[in-house]
Amino acid sequence: MRIFDPHIHMTSRTTDDYERMAAAGVRAVVEPAFWLGQPRTSVASFVDYFDSLIGWEPFRAGQFGVRHHATVALNPKEANDPRCRPVLDLLPRYLDKDGVVAVGEIGYDSMTPDEDAAFAGQLALAVAHDLPALVHTPHRDKARGVERTLAVVAESGIEPGRVLVDHLNEITVKLVRDTGCWLGFSIYPETKMSPPRMVELLKTYGTERMLVNSAADWGHSDPLLTRATGEAMLLAGFTEDDVDRVLWRNPVEFYGQSGKLDLSDVDAPAPTFAGNSILRGGS
Ligand SMILES: [Zn+2]
Repeated sequence: MRIFDPHIHMTSRTTDDYERMAAAGVRAVVEPAFWLGQPRTSVASFVDYFDSLIGWEPFRAGQFGVRHHATVALNPKEANDPRCRPVLDLLPRYLDKDGVVAVGEIGYDSMTPDEDAAFAGQLALAVAHDLPALVHTPHRDKARGVERTLAVVAESGIEPGRVLVDHLNEITVKLVRDTGCWLGFSIYPETKMSPPRMVELLKTYGTERMLVNSAADWGHSDPLLTRATGEAMLLAGFTEDDVDRVLWRNPVEFYGQSGKLDLSDVDAPAPTFAGNSILRGGS
């Protein structure tokens, strides 16, 4: 089983995770820029974070044979902080970098006017830079959040096939299915979706434009739930080709629209992790 996790925050994870993910078949990941839990107090913090997402983290992933790409944006939560908003002016510089395959995560957290402005502005950036957009949907008041999200997406003029609406569930999937947008599902240990619930949605809605991610981050989460979902699909009668479509070909097709997804040699064997000074970045 080859797995592409289209939404995972490896910055918050350990080398043990990389090791277990590689052993489970995870060969590629996309790491969206997000909220780190601790509020940032200046734009300089974003600069260091974005540089790490396109420099240090791909290097770290590569030691385990995992191909790493990133998406870059001002996240919905920090769009409300005036100390952070100037980062919007820095984004164009990052969106043109190699390895940045979308604008994201953008969208709504609490659905404030400041979030409206940042969301619409960053969709416009996606269009201007010819990149897809990864759109986070709120955890509270989800259905209303998704409806409003879809209205802003429609108004922006971005092609729906270049938008991934993420963190969907049984209720919100219905709202997105016929819009032409891609559908993302985060499989979590306790909250959000579980592998069995995901299998039911795939039975009902099919595998087209459906993406499964672990969204693993600094909270209670599990980077192997992509694999668990693939196994649950097989047990439920889906074919290996169905699993490959959901866990590999769909994310490749979606992020491939950036023209910057580099999966060359991704089938090469993973380098052995020797733990020497070169593999530790020379430190
Ligand atoms: Zn996330």
